[in-house]
Amino acid sequence: MSNELPDLPALDDLQELLRFEPEEGRIWLAEERMVLLRSSELQALRKEMIESLGIDRAKGLLIRMGYIAGQRDADTARRLRPDAPMFETFSVGPQSHMMTGQVKVVPVSMDVDETSKTFHGVFEWQHSFEAEIFLAEYGVSYEPVCWSQIGYASGFTTRFTGRQILFRELGCMGCGEKVCRIEGRPVEEWDDAEELLRYYRPDRIADQLFTLQSQVTALRENLTAEQSFGDLVGCSAKFLKVRELLARAAESKVTVLLLGETGVGKDMFAKALHQGSPRRDKPFIAVNCAAIPADLIEAELFGVEKGAYTGADQSRPGRFERAHGGTLFLDEVGELSPQAQAALLRVLQESELERLGDTRTRKVDVRLVAATNEDLEEAVRQGRFRADLLYRLNVYSVTVPALRERIDDVPELARHFVDKYSSLHGKILRGITDRAMAMLRDYHWPGNIRELGNIIERGIILADNGGQIEASHLFPQAMPSSVSEAPNEAELNQLAERLLEQGCELSALEQVLIDRAMERAGGNISRAAKLLGLTRATLDYRLKKRASP
Ligand SMILES: [Zn+2]
Repeated sequence: MSNELPDLPALDDLQELLRFEPEEGRIWLAEERMVLLRSSELQALRKEMIESLGIDRAKGLLIRMGYIAGQRDADTARRLRPDAPMFETFSVGPQSHMMTGQVKVVPVSMDVDETSKTFHGVFEWQHSFEAEIFLAEYGVSYEPVCWSQIGYASGFTTRFTGRQILFRELGCMGCGEKVCRIEGRPVEEWDDAEELLRYYRPDRIADQLFTLQSQVTALRENLTAEQSFGDLVGCSAKFLKVRELLARAAESKVTVLLLGETGVGKDMFAKALHQGSPRRDKPFIAVNCAAIPADLIEAELFGVEKGAYTGADQSRPGRFERAHGGTLFLDEVGELSPQAQAALLRVLQESELERLGDTRTRKVDVRLVAATNEDLEEAVRQGRFRADLLYRLNVYSVTVPALRERIDDVPELARHFVDKYSSLHGKILRGITDRAMAMLRDYHWPGNIRELGNIIERGIILADNGGQIEASHLFPQAMPSSVSEAPNEAELNQLAERLLEQGCELSALEQVLIDRAMERAGGNISRAAKLLGLTRATLDYRLKKRASP
């Protein structure tokens, strides 16, 4: 069997083995009883297993579970397609995996010699259900997560070939890849065979639970530590994607255009790009084009020769020259004057510039990172921005997500800012209360990370030394200090308009108000009643009415 693989055969014969007996409460695959499960059930089961047994043991259990299923299907394969070419008989494994809704298998290469029992195979897995439920529960993983499926592949191939074959994932959707890729070889051909085999041996689960749990906790903490890089903090899928795109660009000199709303931290990403590049030991120079008056920007960027204009009594290099060998970051590049745009275009095309009032041409070697929150294409249409410059800048554009699109990163970012600003303000704090953290997660962050930093800094100033940052330190305006201080009419009207627009019904609103009040009062009915301006008896009545509709 060579690398030239035919397509998978039709699977009608396999599908015919699947029989539903809804009235009997049974499903069959040939002689085997099957059960149709929701993937959400398996997600919950898997979560419990990980949390009570630790990742390693959960992984082993699932691998062995898949292994058994694979062995059974290898027997089915021999019975179902006894006289077919070897590849077709083998295909029962991948096809059964597909038919049971677990994963789509695309064979990439396969070398099998049935007499010498050699096997080597590479397969691609698309829409793996295990990766999907892992991502839904935990987000992107550092290690492959399709454990029962890999066990299945090993079990099937081992029984099929009569020789111990182990599969492993070379890449996994659970790690943020588009598809999984698996490879199978005889066990002794893996360098870390012993490590792989460990998962295939049953173990006694009763002991060591506590040890394992603490190991899992330690592992998780390590993961979090590895995921922060300078001021770049986060573990959400969107964040990791951007970081990966930048890492790819870092090695080359390609001009990078960072897009995204104000305050998303484009400057931090530009700096990280520089630090991740071979230019890291050379200067990183940042210029905010909007902060420099239009008539000075050219002098700032390209430098001035003595006598170029009144007041230029000394020659000085511009930011481009100062960034020589390193990275120049041009923030709000859409604000550049037409002359500055023309000069910038020339530097990008020729890698050389002239200082104002100079006739000499100077060579510069600068990696340019530009950023804008503007729609530059629209600016081109309006004649405010040169199309040829946009074309030069837009070689490799990366959109930095808004904070509300990566809300899972808020807790980590918040902790990062607490560390940063508490030392700045000479305070020692015991972190952020749960309620304050919940409010941070609920907020929609129009000002993005910059706003988060500002809010945390204010919270640190307001919090008592030695205490925690509370919700009222972060959002004082959202917390009426007492019930008697009623919100003003205009605010109430606005709120009512919004609720009506969303089709919120009065009864639903009442329920939410009561729930929130009970939550705030820590379940104390008298206190909740006071918050709502009701008597205790009235609230008690409403709660009871709701409990027994
Ligand atoms: Zn996978």
